[in-house]
Amino acid sequence: MVKIINGKEISNSLIEKLKEKVDKLKLESNVCPSLAVIMVGDNPASKIYVNNKKRICEKIGIKSYEFVLPANAPESELLKLICGLNKREDINGILVQLPLPPHINEKKIIENIAPLKDVDAFNETNVGKIMTGNFKFLPCTPAGIVYLLKESNIKIEGQHCVIIGRSNIVGKPLAMLMLHNNATVTICHSKTQGLREICKTADILIAAVGKPKFISSDMIKPGAVVVDVGINRDINGYVCGDVDFEKVKDVASYITPVPGGVGPMTIAMLMKNTITAALLQKNI
Ligand code: NAD
Repeated sequence: MVKIINGKEISNSLIEKLKEKVDKLKLESNVCPSLAVIMVGDNPASKIYVNNKKRICEKIGIKSYEFVLPANAPESELLKLICGLNKREDINGILVQLPLPPHINEKKIIENIAPLKDVDAFNETNVGKIMTGNFKFLPCTPAGIVYLLKESNIKIEGQHCVIIGRSNIVGKPLAMLMLHNNATVTICHSKTQGLREICKTADILIAAVGKPKFISSDMIKPGAVVVDVGINRDINGYVCGDVDFEKVKDVASYITPVPGGVGPMTIAMLMKNTITAALLQKNI
């Protein structure tokens, strides 16, 4: 019988632990972690994400600051804002909500965030540290996935983990993390040949493709653990993942649902990184 990994529940319990940590930090060290979220333009999806981050910050006791620039703001204005926030002692974490308007160079923006305030762990200093295992922050979604697996007592060591997707924010850092946890890792992507056969060899299959119900039950080894990172809309407009949940759940041993699986973990990990940033900056 398949076990459904309840990301919402695991995330809520982590948020509770983080709240206790922040309460203690305020009481014992007079430190209140803080997060600055920058948005350029008024993309409705970005607005929802930013509001969610604000809400969870409040729940934990993290101070949140919101900076909104108009969609046509020049790149130099955003750089100036980041430069100012890098210097502010009362700001521990800086997050630039992506995507940015096309006239702004995302890579340049990310590289200008001070590495100790880069709570998304997207800049090259932090990415390099993930390679060597000497990391302070982990990108939120990959870290959330490993947390889900560990909380569910799923063995990672020695298992064959197949990751579909090689993006800088999910696939690549996740592969490194699984490797640090002693999995044998295969990364697949849009040019991979024989995807179905490779997937069928996975003990842990992680889909980060961005295509609704792309992973079918005939791609799953019976008893495999299936993690669905995708957030898509199906033909009826409902949110769905990259995995055909209803069919795959009959073959898998564990599966994450969408919504309510990986998604809630991403935001909890952002909060964890913000607290880590505060501790590092205050030398605690
Ligand atoms: P991306 O578009 O950057 O990468 C998609 C990857 O899928 C690419 O590496 C590509 O090579 C691969 N791919 C595309 N078609 C393929 C095919 N036919 N066969 C094999 N591989 C193929 O996407 P991303 O930013 O990594 O996000 C992936 C999905 O995860 C999206 O649905 C996104 O919304 C979701 N996501 C969710 C969270 C979360 O918190 N749950 C966080 C980040 C991304």
